[in-house]
Parts: sequence; C-alpha cells; structure tokens
Amino acid sequence: MQHATLNRANKVMFYGRRGTDTHFALQQAINELDGYAGCALYPCGTAAIAGALLAFLEAGDHLLMVDSAYEPTRDLCDKLLAKMGVTTTYYDPMLGADIETLIQPNTKVIFTESPGSVTMEVQDLPAIVAVAKQHDIIVMLDNTWASPLLFDAKAHGVDICIQAATKYIVGHSDVMLGTASATEALWPQLREQSYLLGYCISPDDAYLAMRGLRTLGVRMRQHQQNALEVANWLASREEVDHLRHPAFASNPGHGFFERDFSGSNGLFSFVLKRGSKAATNAMVNGTKHFKMGYSWGGFESLILANHGVVNLRTATQWQQQGPLIRLHIGLEDPSDLIADLEAAFDRFNSVS
Ligand SMILES: *Cc1c(COP(=O)(O)O)cnc(C)c1O
Repeated sequence: MQHATLNRANKVMFYGRRGTDTHFALQQAINELDGYAGCALYPCGTAAIAGALLAFLEAGDHLLMVDSAYEPTRDLCDKLLAKMGVTTTYYDPMLGADIETLIQPNTKVIFTESPGSVTMEVQDLPAIVAVAKQHDIIVMLDNTWASPLLFDAKAHGVDICIQAATKYIVGHSDVMLGTASATEALWPQLREQSYLLGYCISPDDAYLAMRGLRTLGVRMRQHQQNALEVANWLASREEVDHLRHPAFASNPGHGFFERDFSGSNGLFSFVLKRGSKAATNAMVNGTKHFKMGYSWGGFESLILANHGVVNLRTATQWQQQGPLIRLHIGLEDPSDLIADLEAAFDRFNSVS
C-alpha cells in the first residue's frame, strides 16, 4: 500500500490529475519562495483551506479557529466539519500564549489568519506556535494577505501555509487558484489526502500563476506605497474614526506586525465615526477608479462598505459604532484614487 501511493502527485508524470511538468514547475517555484517541502495545488483558496483541514482532521477531533477568519472558512467549520464530527472553538485573534486555556485533549489543529479578514487583527504567531508545539498540535496559517513575500511562515514555525493564489500571486483577477505548503513531516499526508479528494487545476492556470510570480515583488512594493499614501490621507479625514491597516498604530496587533512582517500591501480597512447605510451607499456608489468587489489582489482598486461586521464574529464583540469600509489599493496613480475618495466623502457628507 505504502509502495502504491509513494509517487502519487509527487512530480512523476502519470495521469493529468497527478500533475504535469507545468504544475511541477509552479510547485517548485512556490517551494523556493516559501521554503516548505511541498506544495499542493487547488482550484481556489477556499479549496486549499478545505483540503488542508480535511487532510488532518477526523471525527472526534477539535479545531481552534481564529474568530477573524475569512467568512467561507467559518462556514466550512460550521456546515461541513461539524457534520463530520469535528468540533470548532473560535478564539479571539488577540490571544497569544493564553490560547493554551482553550486546548482540549482532542485539539488537533490551530488555524490562524493574520491579519484577519476585514477587521485586520495581526496575531502573535510565535506565541501560538510555541504553545502548539508543546501540545503536538498542527498550526495552519491562511497567509493570503502577506503572500509568500511579507511573512515568512516557515521560519515562524507554521506547519501548513495556505495561499489564495487568486489574490496577489496571480495578481490580475483572472484565475482562481489555491496552494497549501507543508513541512517535510506533513507533506506526504497533505499530498495524498488532497489527491484523494480529486483536487487539480488546469496547466493554463498554473502557467498564469507562474507569470504572476515574476512580477509579485514589484507589484507588492507598489501596492504598499500606494496604499500607505491613501491611508495617510484617510487618517487626516475628520469622518474617519481609525484605520485598520497593520502598519498603523491604531491596528490591533500593530506591534506583532512590526516585529514579524517585512512590509504591507494594498488591502486595509477604515472605520467611520458614524454613517447611515444611505450615506455609505452614496459614498461607494459612483467612484470612478474604485470598483466594488470582494476578490482583491489584482491591479485595480476596490471598495466595499460593511455594516455587518458584528455578525461575522462569535468569540469577540465588534464594538465600533460606525460602518467599516474595506479598500484594496491597486496600481493606479494614488492621486487619482485620493481624488476619487474625496468625491466619495462629499457624497457621504451630503447624505449624512
Ligand atoms: C479570497 C480569500 C480566500 C479564498 O480564496 P478564493 O480563491 O476566492 O477561494 C481565502 N482566504 C483569504 C484571506 C482570502 O482573502
């Protein structure tokens, strides 16, 4: 049995589902970037999260899931893992070593995402990893925000590192793709179990991801620079309560960001002091450069208003009064983006 499965999806040409030279080239490029032993490919980021969790969890296991997780990750726990007999406890993203108090004898995986989706809390990964190692628990990280460039998951002791390559790796909003990278010890199980689930991607998508990797470094630097310019302008606006941008002191876990990350990118949020639905609708409707959309990481700027953060969390309480706006700052001229936002605030104020 061991012999029969040895080479499955392991860089040996045999059958399309097990990969072709194009897939192996992308896997190798990701390995070289993130330093892990192997990288499984999935048709989207959500599939990578599901594939990684399903590879290591079984009936009777317990999962610790960060409360600021990407919403479909939460849905997976509540609607699919629960059905299979895996229980989930959500934890405050600001928990460091105190996560130990939530560990049960059957806790198998601690899942992290840093910064968190929408609300951007940066986690104390080294403290969580230290606790997990003591209890022989697998640490998984949704590292999509950082890409392989801004946070070195392997060096920080993360066992399984997941990317929604749909975002910055592909970088042009034209392919959906996910990756999960594993340490030497966990790679055979991740590879084989993901293979059994039938996950595979087209060679054309693998090729486009490799093309994206070639410009990832320069794109990330430009996203960072443009976003910092827009964020600094926002910080001076009277309407803004505070920024949820990891590089700003107002962001929860800013100190961990300064300590552990090598830079920021184009995705951040800000919280308004106040604002009705009608006012925020007027704000986000009618922008010239910002489009409305969820899937960030491409070259263009995006804007989304969120009045329902309170409904996205269960272990923590969202205390802010005003609505949250999430921006993805693309590669446009930041002065055009600022002018666009200035007009958006004018519409907002004329309705408020
Ligand atoms: C977009 C996203 C995903 C899911 O990626 P898809 O390719 O859209 O399935 C997962 N995690 C984070 C943090 C994301 O932003």
